[in-house]
Amino acid sequence: MTEETKFSVMVSMFDWIQKSKYSAKKRSKFRKFLDTFCKPRDYFTAVRLILPGLDRERGSYGLKESVLANCLIDALGMSRDSPDALRLINWRKGGAKTGANAGNFALVATEVLQRRQGMASGGLTIKELNELLDRLACSENRPEKISILATLIKKTNAQEMKWVIMIILKDLKLGLSEKSIFHEFHPDAEDLFNVTCDLKLVCEKLRDRHQRHKRQDIEVGKAVRPQLAMRVSDAQAAWKKLHGKEVVMECKFDGDRIQIHKNGAEVHFFSRNFIDHSEYEHGMSDIIQQCVLADRCILDGEMLVWDSSLNRFAEFGSNQEIAKAAKDGLDSHKQVCLFISLFFSSPTLLDMSSILIYLFCCCSCAVSFTLIKLKAEPQLLHVAFDILYVGDTSVIHQSLKERHELLRSAVNPVKGRLEILVPSGGLNSHCPPEKLALKYFLAHAGEPCCSLIAHSLDDVDKFFKQIVENRDEGIVLKDLDSKWEPGDRSGKWLKLKPDYIRAGSDLDVLIIGGYYGSGRRGGELLCRFISFCRVGTGLSDDELNAVVTKLKPYFRKYDYPKKAPPSFYQVTNNSKERPDVWIESPEKSVILSITSDIRTIRSEVFAAPYSLRFPRIDRVRYDKPWHECLDVQSFIELVHSSNGT
Ligand code: ATP
Repeated sequence: MTEETKFSVMVSMFDWIQKSKYSAKKRSKFRKFLDTFCKPRDYFTAVRLILPGLDRERGSYGLKESVLANCLIDALGMSRDSPDALRLINWRKGGAKTGANAGNFALVATEVLQRRQGMASGGLTIKELNELLDRLACSENRPEKISILATLIKKTNAQEMKWVIMIILKDLKLGLSEKSIFHEFHPDAEDLFNVTCDLKLVCEKLRDRHQRHKRQDIEVGKAVRPQLAMRVSDAQAAWKKLHGKEVVMECKFDGDRIQIHKNGAEVHFFSRNFIDHSEYEHGMSDIIQQCVLADRCILDGEMLVWDSSLNRFAEFGSNQEIAKAAKDGLDSHKQVCLFISLFFSSPTLLDMSSILIYLFCCCSCAVSFTLIKLKAEPQLLHVAFDILYVGDTSVIHQSLKERHELLRSAVNPVKGRLEILVPSGGLNSHCPPEKLALKYFLAHAGEPCCSLIAHSLDDVDKFFKQIVENRDEGIVLKDLDSKWEPGDRSGKWLKLKPDYIRAGSDLDVLIIGGYYGSGRRGGELLCRFISFCRVGTGLSDDELNAVVTKLKPYFRKYDYPKKAPPSFYQVTNNSKERPDVWIESPEKSVILSITSDIRTIRSEVFAAPYSLRFPRIDRVRYDKPWHECLDVQSFIELVHSSNGT
């Protein structure tokens, strides 16, 4: 029975799966483990440890690598400046002998644990592990987390603890996809998970691998895996892919994908990772109650922040802040009401001084409330681009065209708070090209040109060019005849973004330093004499290795603040953006051609005033001498000309 099965048995399976090269072998080992060591009624206890990223029964541990490093140091009773403690804190950097583990926290931790834990298994059972992990997720203070980690360390050896750490970090790096695990578990597991996002339910409903499960539809209140967009390189490729279809082109909004589930008085906001974001309730639930006409409904769309004073979207990433401000504002409002009702309900009990005090409190609350209201000008805005459920029926099987009609009739849009994205026609005189921009979406009532029917490749080209010119995120093309399919990325929706195409001119920049990285690629390169961006993608493993091999003899460690960087390199004081190693001198380095999103961003972490959004290495310019790299002035001019300034 799983509950009493030792965790060491699971660890053997993990090790074996990780070592094996072939997917079929990995899968059969997983099957064997289930058949031999798990009773069907205990499947969830085991599967939640194999797919920890999908387990929503436990909350978040609040332990990313850096916090975990500090907690492990305390759990092991190490002094913070001991070499092993520093190894954990600087896990990205690796050590003199063990550089190979750099960037993999669990491996670095294993090195440290091996020096402290015995070789023999600690005897931890799967049941105990789940209980301890439950406690770890529930505990809100650090001493409790440390004590739970200490217990785990006591009951495991280093190899077992390595896997516990990977479970806590929710990434087992087994080399076996979630899809394969689901398929091996049960042929209908993936489908059922996609419509429920509930791993426990999947494990409990699909105990018998040979008994097929009738396809289940989506339900209000249960997050659904979102339909996704396939990436295409240019308008032509997109048009070819959607050949003969009726196509709608939409702006790609730069916010958070949020599914809104309204179930009578209850409203849930599920993210793409099926986390219920209750912080949106304060800013959005009332609007949903008032403007979504159906009692039960699921809307799919993007949560953004709209700044009504500036008539534009706020920077990506400000959603949570605004949600919090809305919550604080609401709480102050509640306080005001409380004081007023106290004052009116029992005046006879109060003497004059207390009345004064209450009045004063009342005023100060009212003032702070007004201030919050004034300050909270940017507000949450949900742009619903789809509807999945209305009344008592799932509508995902209807065509997008039909769903647009349902969306129109189910929602009364409110400017700047809840908008619907439905096509306003073709590219015609109602929608002159300069208005094909997000900024016109809300600023100009009645002219929402963010969703248009495309009749030709030329239409797609024009729409995309305008989006690029307006420095918006990109476009999404959708087959109007398509169903909404949970978790699908097969090409019914296509995304086209400026960063997938070449910027007008290549940026030929010089590498001046390097970072130890994390993950498979581990290692990114920093460019130009004056630092302005960090880039790690674009080259194949072989190409990247060739660059690193060429530059390695010239790497010099950057041991700030003991040793200053060479004077010809200028970086900021921001500790995050100082490279770990420097290239000894510019003439030893090589030039890289970089492409990026044409939108640059203001930079405070690099020494240059601007940095690049989504940079990618296009190729290595071994042919170009180092001194022919882009100079700062040309870069700034390029930025200004692409900004139209
Ligand atoms: P990216 O990294 O390019 O933002 P992604 O990997 O997060 O994309 P994709 O499936 O590639 O996800 O792109 C779809 C995402 O784009 C959606 O999850 C949604 O958040 C966002 N999006 C913005 N505008 C739209 C739109 N009009 N229709 C569909 N998705 C949109």
